[in-house]
Amino acid sequence: MPAIAAILDAPEAPDVFGDEGERPGDILSPSQVTTWMSCQMKWAFAKVWGLREPGTAASAFGHAVHEATAEAHRCQMETGAVLPVEAAIAAFSTAWTREVSTAKLTPRHDPEELRGRGAKLVERYMREIAPTLDPAAAEVALPADAAIGGVRVRGRIDVVEHDGRVRDTKTCCTKPQGMRAKDRIQVTVYAMALPGASGHVAVDYLVKTKGRPQLVQIEDRISHGDELLVQELLKKAQAGMRGGNYSPSRLASCCNRLMCGYADLCESEFGGRVPFYPEAS
Ligand code: SF4
Repeated sequence: MPAIAAILDAPEAPDVFGDEGERPGDILSPSQVTTWMSCQMKWAFAKVWGLREPGTAASAFGHAVHEATAEAHRCQMETGAVLPVEAAIAAFSTAWTREVSTAKLTPRHDPEELRGRGAKLVERYMREIAPTLDPAAAEVALPADAAIGGVRVRGRIDVVEHDGRVRDTKTCCTKPQGMRAKDRIQVTVYAMALPGASGHVAVDYLVKTKGRPQLVQIEDRISHGDELLVQELLKKAQAGMRGGNYSPSRLASCCNRLMCGYADLCESEFGGRVPFYPEAS
């Protein structure tokens, strides 16, 4: 792998994208925008230099839970029946085994304890949330020509319900008091870019607390203000990404080894020390 410093000095960033003519920042997903807002260098490691982010405990857990809930949504779409709880837990467990085999865990993490926590969380989701959903489609990709304010966007929506509501599922560590800002940006992009979306949005949070994991469902309707914000953020993010001048955000709340898989690379390129855990506020 070339040293990042050498790439930064290069006159033009290499094009690592396969799509003909597509440059970093040309087509934005909501997660690209929120990653950019949190740490430009984290975005650039992935999207300019094509460096796959090593998994962390948080990303491994999130992917494994998502695989189980996606399986449940698919089953409900195809058969009209809710996937048996045991099958959903098995899907989680299989995915967790795969994800955790390559993730960088911190000394605080016990893979089997996390497996148990994930199983309890998936069980609660299947008993309490899955039966209440009214999916019209699952894993819905935005149309290829989707654009907001002149910026092309891409994304994949967990569930679109029959009333046109877009619904996403998230795992998190602490109980959210409302829809988190980054999730609101994500579902607003979906509701603006998906033909037929009603403007109603929902996020189902699976909170991976020790003991009894919690579920929090937050539903809302996006406002004109949400739409204005998203248009502005997309334009500014795209301009910044195309500018080619990226900074590491060592003060960001996501800048720790629980949440950023690029910590080793970032330390070797920029120096300093990336902490294992979020700093106390
Ligand atoms: S370690 Fe921190 S500064 Fe470096 S890429 Fe990750 S979040 Fe950004």
